[in-house]
Amino acid sequence: MRILPRFTLALSLVSLPTVPLNAQSPAFDWAGLQEEATQLLSQYLRINTTNPPGNELAAARWLQQVLAKEGIEGRILDTTGIGPGRANFYARLKGNGSKKAIALVHHMDVVPVTRELWHEDPFTGVIRDGEVWGRGALDMKGHGIIQLVALIAIKRSGVPLTRDIVFIGNADEETGGLGAIAMVEKHRDLLEDVEYLLTEGADTRVEGGKVRWFGIDVGEKRPLWTRIVVQGKASHGSVPIGDQNPVPRLARAVARVAAWQTPLRLSPAVERFFQAQARGERGPGRLWLANPRAALKSPAGRAWLLSEPERNALLRNTISPTVLTGSDKTNTIPETASAELDIRLLPDEDPEAFKRQLIRVIADSQVRLEEIVPLPPRYDAPLGTELFKAIEGVVGELLPGVPVATPVSAGATDRPTYASAGIIAYGVDPYLIPIEQNRDQVHGNDERILTANIGWGVRFYATLLQRIM
Ligand SMILES: [Zn+2]
Repeated sequence: MRILPRFTLALSLVSLPTVPLNAQSPAFDWAGLQEEATQLLSQYLRINTTNPPGNELAAARWLQQVLAKEGIEGRILDTTGIGPGRANFYARLKGNGSKKAIALVHHMDVVPVTRELWHEDPFTGVIRDGEVWGRGALDMKGHGIIQLVALIAIKRSGVPLTRDIVFIGNADEETGGLGAIAMVEKHRDLLEDVEYLLTEGADTRVEGGKVRWFGIDVGEKRPLWTRIVVQGKASHGSVPIGDQNPVPRLARAVARVAAWQTPLRLSPAVERFFQAQARGERGPGRLWLANPRAALKSPAGRAWLLSEPERNALLRNTISPTVLTGSDKTNTIPETASAELDIRLLPDEDPEAFKRQLIRVIADSQVRLEEIVPLPPRYDAPLGTELFKAIEGVVGELLPGVPVATPVSAGATDRPTYASAGIIAYGVDPYLIPIEQNRDQVHGNDERILTANIGWGVRFYATLLQRIM
């Protein structure tokens, strides 16, 4: 609730009736589509796809049934191979084939919740005070419903299509990305003619009641999820055995890793991104953003740049220690203790060189490193494509005067997997969420989305899809 007053202000910028309508476009009933999308999202959020275990098959069946009512046939894929109760979902709206297809991709799984910290049940699709509550409202069932309703609106409108529109719901984006990997490895035929892909990932910035920029995300940090493990000697806690107890040894390693100030590095993409942000910035930050290279050399400039966690994460490899395991009994010294590190590498980092540095920082030969998931492929998307320009055009139409920035994402998505299949993938955020809300609710508590934002997103996607036909 704390961000609501500001947010109402931000939204008023985009919900004014003065936004010009494209004269050629068929009349879409935006208010009706918003209401429809709101109800669908509420239903979708009731399907608990917490990953693990995922349970995406239930979500896929539901999507299939929603599209069937519109005369669009959906296919449930990969019900074997990625785990029990899991699946991918795939549908295609045919165009005349004169251009290659565009894919709208979301993930059906969500991250776990800490129920006692929520003020509404995260899995009942509560609609209250103009907001839809639930795990996945922002990441990313809300986005998926926006794509779905835009697709449905385009189908109903009968607007001529030069491209097929592919709609994909993936399993397992939040852990190993197994769903997208299965799509690319087992169903290459379904993706063969896909030129472009849109999914999550971007950082569209709403701050202080203003939309400061709309992000088209063109690159991604790579998660090098690593487990550090200490081998010890299982015994009774009543008789201490010093360093043969793996727990204190692990704790020291975790403390050293957490204290490590990884080197700062400014990539050309991030430098461009910061320069785009300078336009809306007031005060000393404007100069630092306009010349981030100089800012990093000045203590004041560096402190200012790093004061924002998102900017800090774009300037360095980051490490967050997260999961800890040791004994599950107070009186038992465990055989092993381990900690999981959420490491995110800059897109151009050499993973092997980083691992060598990490070993030096831990400085304990008894601590061994294990890979938790395979490192995803490197991902950088080109600027200035037809789709890129179309997004710029829609932003100009719906958010006059708002610049388009090209951030590099600090979070991981399925885009590198699809990029490895030769598809040009961009990340967008089809709604205008204040930065504080993004930080607190995505993977946090009380995740929710304003219905006005759902409506805005449907309009964004439906307008965009018409523009690239
Ligand atoms: Zn997500």
